[in-house]
Amino acid sequence: QAKSAGRSTYRVYSSDLTAVANTRLTMEAQLRRALERDEFVLHYQPLVSLTTGRVFGLEALIRWQDPERGLISPADFLPVAEETGLIVPIGNRMLKVAAAQMKMWRHSGLALDLMAVNISPRQFRHLDFAGNLAATLRETRLSPELLELEITEETLMDSLAATRTTLAALKSLGVGLAVDDFGTGYSSLAYLKTLPCDTLKIDRSFVTDLGQDPASEAIVTAIIRLAECLGLSVLAEGIETQQQRDILAASGCHMGQGFLFARAVPAHEVPSLPGLGRVP
Ligand code: C2E
Ligand code: MG
Ligand code: MG
Ligand code: MG
Repeated sequence: QAKSAGRSTYRVYSSDLTAVANTRLTMEAQLRRALERDEFVLHYQPLVSLTTGRVFGLEALIRWQDPERGLISPADFLPVAEETGLIVPIGNRMLKVAAAQMKMWRHSGLALDLMAVNISPRQFRHLDFAGNLAATLRETRLSPELLELEITEETLMDSLAATRTTLAALKSLGVGLAVDDFGTGYSSLAYLKTLPCDTLKIDRSFVTDLGQDPASEAIVTAIIRLAECLGLSVLAEGIETQQQRDILAASGCHMGQGFLFARAVPAHEVPSLPGLGRVP
């Protein structure tokens, strides 16, 4: 009987697998449609001077504005976007939106010096990433030094020859490079010395335990010293309490972001963020 059912027979025997595959397929189709319908939006979290409280920049964070389900956070769709390769067009689209938005905010007089944009491993590895970025910079006429690309240690360490070529291309375009979630990956300190990075972003997991766990404090201090020695900037993620802020500032980390200051907000709320100045 199975034989006579021919090509569709496998469905009978692997309905569970098919269900899994269907969910995947549905999600992929949904993401594709969301991209066509322009449903991906950026929210912006302030980057803050820990000493003065001034907002000097923003990190662009993607959300999926689904008409039925509302706002969906990146954790719920980025893994599938990454796996299917859809992160490449989605990410490039977000890069363009962030650059155009930054250009407009600067034009309107907001004192913003930095727009940080997350780049996924697959997007970074894509053949024409640097070329695409160059086109975005041309189209938006944004000064490259106002843009910082956040890449993870995973991206940085991955097949180093190609990575170096891309990093060099990005550097020559004039954009900044930050290592995101620093301390959680496996980047070799020796390589860090030779790669053209500008900023280390201390992962939230270390910041969370500040004041409670001496080991986290030791790690944070070590990252700050490392950055100093390598001539890199250092910024702490996920600051939620004044105590964490004080410890960081006292240890020599002068930039941060976190719920203590603000969550990521939609674009229309950016101009009224507390701590964000205007160019006189
Ligand atoms: P990330 O780049 O490390 O971004 C920081 C994440 O920590 C954001 O989560 C932010 O909302 C959250 N966060 C900031 N301050 C605090 C805090 O004080 N407490 C807590 N508990 N969380 C805080 P979000 O927006 O959900 O983004 C998660 C991750 O998704 C990002 O981590 C980044 O890896 C990725 N991502 C976001 N937007 C994009 C994008 O446009 N492209 C790519 N490729 N990845 C993105
Ligand atoms: Mg980031
Ligand atoms: Mg991060
Ligand atoms: Mg993080």
